[in-house]
Formats: sequence, structure tokens, C-alpha cells
Amino acid sequence: MAALQTLREWIGIQQFPPATQSKLLEILGKYKEEDVSSLTVLVMGKGGVGKSSTVNSVIGEKAAAVSTFQSEGLRPTLVSRTRSGFTLNIIDTPGLIEGGYVNDQAINIIKRFLLNMTIDVLLYVDRLDVYRVDDLDRQVVGAITDAFGKEIWKKSALVLTHAQFSPPDGLNYNHFVSKRSNALLKVIQTGAQLKKQDLQGFSIPVILVENSGRCHKNESDEMILPCGTSWIPNLFNKITEISFNGNKAIHVDKKLVEGPNPNERGKKLIPLMFAFQYLLVMKPLVRAIKSDVSRESKPAWELRDSGLASRRS
Ligand code: GDP
Ligand code: MG
Repeated sequence: MAALQTLREWIGIQQFPPATQSKLLEILGKYKEEDVSSLTVLVMGKGGVGKSSTVNSVIGEKAAAVSTFQSEGLRPTLVSRTRSGFTLNIIDTPGLIEGGYVNDQAINIIKRFLLNMTIDVLLYVDRLDVYRVDDLDRQVVGAITDAFGKEIWKKSALVLTHAQFSPPDGLNYNHFVSKRSNALLKVIQTGAQLKKQDLQGFSIPVILVENSGRCHKNESDEMILPCGTSWIPNLFNKITEISFNGNKAIHVDKKLVEGPNPNERGKKLIPLMFAFQYLLVMKPLVRAIKSDVSRESKPAWELRDSGLASRRS
């Protein structure tokens, strides 16, 4: 699939106001400095949260199909754009939930689609303007973890769309953002079974996004959020930080696509541990009990009975 896609020039970048363009070109310069010529970003999340819209905003053209009502199909879309020797690959995926559950077929299709690719960054997308997390969030996080291994979260960012938003009851914007993101980050941490030692000072960055035309603009015509951030350059900056954060990118090989759940590998040792436990604990225990039983003084009735028996014979 990736091989069939011809490299297209990233002309969408010209849609951005000059201030944004120059920031983006500066970021591309960083990749050149580090001798990195391509970047692959995987976009995942529930349906209708704004994944495809975000892909389009980032590319600056309508590359991915946006649907107000769910009917996305199951196939991911790879969008590749090249600019001065650098290639940006973004993979838009369909929502994973169907009928209240994660659709395993959708996960498998995505895994197969990604075969032989290396995921540099995962954007986990949800909406900012929602107040609750629920079981579906946990399921989607769990499904991503099962598919790619929990290490993928060290290459991820939480993207919150609909960020041009006024919190209810006059709540402070930044306060609301941190409440909403903490709730989702907690779901990610538990759903991905990330322990403190897994994270080692690493925290998943949060990126705010507003895809609609309602987004406010600053005097340089850049889209800005209520917190004052001009979000397109900020998103590219965060993606760049993740790609250079020193954690390993996720290579999707045959083993990952066809093999067992990457988080289960350690669990193969469990039968072995049972055997060890038997040898180390159970066997001596059984031996001790047996010798205890034989050493135990015989109860009076047994002595008497055996005495009787011996007298009779
Ligand atoms: P996907 O299913 O996650 O790919 O979501 P889409 O990108 O197809 O978006 C679903 C709907 O939400 C569409 O009607 C979009 O126009 C709308 N939408 C997406 N992102 C935003 C956003 O940041 N703000 C607003 N107001 N609407 C958005
Ligand atoms: Mg979509």
C-alpha cells in the first residue's frame, strides 16, 4: 500500500498564513539537521472525534474523508506529502467501536495496513468538550495497547479537538483542559497498564486542536485557541518532540501483526513459574507433611486396635 502511493508535493502548506508556514519550515529544518527524512504519524480514536478533520487541518487540504454521521468503512487512509526532501506520512484510521464494542476486525485491518511501517508518533484523538470518560474509552485504549504493545504510548500524544470551546458554569479554560486531559490520561495509564517505572518521568503530551472555521485568529491570521496558542505550529512542535524523545518507534513487523498480543509475551513464562513453584515449595511441603504423618504418635484407639489384633492372632 505504502509503496503504491506516489510521493506528492506538500502544497497544502501554502494554505497556511506566512507566520505558520515559516514556523513549519523551521521545524522541517530540525529534521534535516538530525538527518531524518520522513515521519509517520498514526491517528487513532473513537469515531466522530475529529481524526480525519485533524489530518486535513495538518496537511492543509482535504485529504481524508470527513463524515458528520458515522459510515467511515474499515480501511485506514495513508496521506503522504513531501516538502524539500522531507516526507510526512499520516495514517487516518476508522473509529474502532461498533455496537458498543471494539471491532476486532477493524483492529486487524489497521495492523495489516501498517505492516512494515514504523510508527514514529501516535495521536490519540478525543474531544475536549466532553465531560466524562467511559468504558468505550477504556476499550479503545486497551485495543491499541493489545495491538501495538504498551510502548506505543511513549510515542503518543493526547489530541483534544473542539478546543475553541467555552467551559460551562464559567469554569476557567485552562482548568477545564487540565481536568479533561487528566481524566483521559488516567484512562490511558490504566488501560495501557503503564506502571510508574514504565513511564520514568515521561508524561504524555496534550495537544489542543480546533478544526472548524470557528477557530479564532490572531493578527497574523494564525488560528489561535482560547489559551492563546497558535495550534498548528504547536501540534507540529509536539509531534517533533515526541519523535525525538529517545523512546523507540514502533516497527510493525510480521510478528506484531500475526503474533500474540505483544503484552502477553511475558505471560508465556507463567506455566514455567508454576513448575518452579511446585519444585521449590510444593515438593518439600509434601515431603514434610509425609514425614510428619509417619512420625505422629498413633492415637490410643489405633494402638488398642492393633494390640487387640495382635493378641487375637
Ligand atoms: P472522525 O470520525 O474521528 O474521523 O471525525 P471527523 O473528522 O469525520 O469529524 C466528525 C464531525 O466532527 C464532522 O462533522 C467534523 O466537521 C466535526 N469536527 C471535527 N473536528 C472538529 C473540531 O475541532 N471542532 C468542531 N467544531 N467540529 C469538528
Ligand atoms: Mg474519520
